[in-house]
Amino acid sequence: MEATSSSAPAYTFELSGGALCLDFANTCGNQARPEQEHLHAYADILAFARQAEIVDAGQARELADRAAEDPAAAAAAFGDAVEVRDAIYRIFSALAAGTSPPPADLERLNRALPDALAGLRIEPREGGFAWSRDDLADSLTAPLRPIVRSAAELLVSGRLDRVRECDGTTCTWLFLDQSRNRSRRWCSMETCGNRAKVRRHYRRRKTEG
Ligand SMILES: [Zn+2]
Repeated sequence: MEATSSSAPAYTFELSGGALCLDFANTCGNQARPEQEHLHAYADILAFARQAEIVDAGQARELADRAAEDPAAAAAAFGDAVEVRDAIYRIFSALAAGTSPPPADLERLNRALPDALAGLRIEPREGGFAWSRDDLADSLTAPLRPIVRSAAELLVSGRLDRVRECDGTTCTWLFLDQSRNRSRRWCSMETCGNRAKVRRHYRRRKTEG
């Protein structure tokens, strides 16, 4: 396992989901097209964690070293992360479609909760309190913890009616619609929104011609 390999440039994850758990769910480019999978090894979990600012550069290096020292543990942590990612995807995809999430997926998320909440602390911050997560490099599963917590927090947030699946014809990405009039339709205007605009334009030209 090439946990510390730096030969190939890391994929740049698109963090447009509006919630950490949805960004992580979207690391599978398209649920119907397995060739768009962007998580292939533990190093990809670290790349996502780094880009989503779950871990800082020092913590990422520390975790990469741990993964190199114990490839079996890294493979297990990677397997866990993908399982939880897929459960999170199916839970929120079901909710976006107005249906009940599969009980097995909720169970999978629940099984990840104790580790996700382990070592959490409350600390005073400016104007109130915040979760402290300074123990992030202590275990290979550490990057998964804030993701699982994000999914749990979103599920109990009362904002589930804002979870949407992209309207793009070949896109299965999830996002939190934070627009005032709840009118967001695309995972991103630059990709799916723009493709839809081009299609409309092309159809119009065809009818005119
Ligand atoms: Zn999309």
